[in-house]
Amino acid sequence: MSKIYYDQDASLDAVVNKKIGIIGYGNQGRAQALNMRDSGLEHVSIGSIQDASMDQAKNDGFDAGSIEEVSRESDILFLLIPDEVMPKVYEQNILPGLESGNVLNFASGYNITFKKIVPPEFVDVIMVAPRMIGEGVRELFVNKKGYPAFVGVEQDHSGNALEITLGLAKAMGATMKAAMEVTMQQETMMDLFAEQATWPMIENILVEAFEYQVKMGLPPEAVLSELYLSKEPAYMFEKMADVGFFKQLPLHSHTSQYGQLSRFHKFDREPIRSFMEKAVKEIENGSFAKEWEQEQANGMIEFNRLRAEAFEHPINRIEEKLKDQT
Ligand code: NDP
Repeated sequence: MSKIYYDQDASLDAVVNKKIGIIGYGNQGRAQALNMRDSGLEHVSIGSIQDASMDQAKNDGFDAGSIEEVSRESDILFLLIPDEVMPKVYEQNILPGLESGNVLNFASGYNITFKKIVPPEFVDVIMVAPRMIGEGVRELFVNKKGYPAFVGVEQDHSGNALEITLGLAKAMGATMKAAMEVTMQQETMMDLFAEQATWPMIENILVEAFEYQVKMGLPPEAVLSELYLSKEPAYMFEKMADVGFFKQLPLHSHTSQYGQLSRFHKFDREPIRSFMEKAVKEIENGSFAKEWEQEQANGMIEFNRLRAEAFEHPINRIEEKLKDQT
């Protein structure tokens, strides 16, 4: 079992007097910075390139400067720029300003797990990784509900890294809900597993269900509505989280419950397992990370082709047609 920390397990004492530098004021950066300021951390500043995010940070009332400047002046650095640009920015603009006792906080384990970033031994390396999009991080904090996060200590130079991690998680609103302790390697695996195994399979099931039923002669608009446009499945997912994965079943009709339960065990999971095994192998042996790095070096040609292909699927036209009608 993972250790789970709540508000009463964490204290702001370890972080309240620290200078905190948020590197990157995007989805996560803005939400986390605003939450920490509202929690009473007064020394939060933003490091950014000169862009709309920098303007936004200033409009929100933060001190904002270049990434080099803020990195040099901060005790705790939040690395909240996209994972794929992080190693280069770290090497060029952050590493030169690091001092003994500084803290590097990541919202994703990716660059540490795959050794794209190897911090010096004189800093703490920690993770507070919200399981929530930036908008939710802010909204759920403002509404005093909090959101779950994975927290972990990768390198404890100060001997105080866990207290600092929990203090930040509290200031950001994560311990209000639940901060679950995992290693950065575990966080990376769960993240990539969802992206490369679970979701591609779910997406395939939905696309296949659409294509199959359309071939049967059923109206495509109605099929999409049944599959997800009605938002009934979204509502079911919410009930799975609130009531229980199986325990939400009584909310469905008896015919539906019998249909789901009687067919559940008739499904052959072997192809699912072998798809998962392949994905895990490619994650563990680093071949996915290598392929992705190569793709970026090639100018994202395949990435753009895949996205364009997805946006051309007949599903898109039906969605477009139904946009204003449902
Ligand atoms: P964003 O895509 O929102 O980017 C963050 C900021 O980085 C933006 O201000 C962006 O500027 C800036 N930026 C982009 N490219 C560069 C560059 N080359 N040099 C300097 N700054 C740059 O990132 P996210 O907030 O989505 O992700 C940040 C971290 O949080 C990642 O580690 C991610 O894995 C993690 N995370 C993200 C979650 C999410 O839901 N988004 C959830 C949990 C963790 P501009 O706007 O000009 O592009």
